Amino acid sequence: MARVTLSKLTKRYGEVTAVDGLDITIADGEFLTLLGPSGCGKSTALACIAGLEQLSDGAISFDDRDVTDLEPAERNIAMVFQDYALYPHMSVRDNMSFGLRQQRVDPATIRQQVDIAGQMLGLQQLLDRRPAELSGGQRQRVAVGRAVVRNPAVFLMDEPLSNLDASLRVRTRTEIKRLQRELGITTVFVTHDQEEAMVLSDRIAIMSGGKLQQIGPPMEVYRRPANQFVAGFIGSPAMNFLHGELLRQDGRLHFRVGRHTMELPGESVSVDALPGPGQPRGASLGIRPTDLVVGTARGLTLEGEVFLVEPIGPVSYIDVDVDGIALKGICDPDEAPAVGDRVTLGCTTARVHLFDRATSRRL
Ligand code: ADP
Ligand code: MG
Repeated sequence: MARVTLSKLTKRYGEVTAVDGLDITIADGEFLTLLGPSGCGKSTALACIAGLEQLSDGAISFDDRDVTDLEPAERNIAMVFQDYALYPHMSVRDNMSFGLRQQRVDPATIRQQVDIAGQMLGLQQLLDRRPAELSGGQRQRVAVGRAVVRNPAVFLMDEPLSNLDASLRVRTRTEIKRLQRELGITTVFVTHDQEEAMVLSDRIAIMSGGKLQQIGPPMEVYRRPANQFVAGFIGSPAMNFLHGELLRQDGRLHFRVGRHTMELPGESVSVDALPGPGQPRGASLGIRPTDLVVGTARGLTLEGEVFLVEPIGPVSYIDVDVDGIALKGICDPDEAPAVGDRVTLGCTTARVHLFDRATSRRL
């Protein structure tokens, strides 16, 4: 097990800067997720940690050892990819023990290690089967098992659940989380799926265009997104944004959009972000659909016409046209309005997010 330090980690491919100055320290035993849209540099960053790609700039260390120029085999890492890459002609047991046999570990130890990993992953009954005789989820568990039996210092996983169907993905991620907790192996996990990142991680590092946008525990990045990109990427359905102006009138803070003016509590923005009296400041106001409740008049209240109703079971999503602005809210499915109804939408002011229009940073 090891602490992993990325210092100004940079990888360029010709003109493209795939990873741009990543500074992250991953604690010993931590589960860290690199999260971001396709092409943001997650896989490249992971390949650099693995030693499969050479850095253009920066350094990587495991504990106090600089591993920047070490071969993958010298780093004591284990990787799991999206496609399981199992040997089709070998049994599950032989697949799982392949790495250890190559390292000439004695057969009794190998047997014991594979039995332990097989038990942890619920593969005991399947050890004599071939990959073709397994489901997708079972195959991915074998790939995880093969990685853990090597007892690596660092566990690297690149979208390992993407090929699984939805229910299997949820079950397998629970197993991965439990296994990681039990073994305490420092883990760097890559995904584009924000929900997966939320449930699995100790901390999430959100990337865009090769750059780190924010790093923090799941609920911190959810509750206090550092910029509009993070706010829009974390949470589902995506946050609503209203583009308007922040103004101060009679010592009170207001947000104005179209013909609506809403009063906000003073603590909504930091003091240095307050607009001067009579000087409006361009801002975007963000509200998560789950914080915008139909039929309530809370701190912040809007009114509009329903144009879509989407029941998902526990709640229904309601799309409302507020003077030409489309907003998504929620309501109890038993009290869902009909398309064409006029409704009010309420949000407690504590759940409102404000971002600077020019920099997109949180105010
Ligand atoms: P992600 O895993 O987040 O989807 P990648 O790390 O695969 O993103 O890619 C980041 C960027 O680097 C993309 O613009 C991609 O096209 C580019 N890239 C990745 N690998 C190579 C390569 N071997 N040669 C050239 N460009 C690459
Ligand atoms: Mg990738």
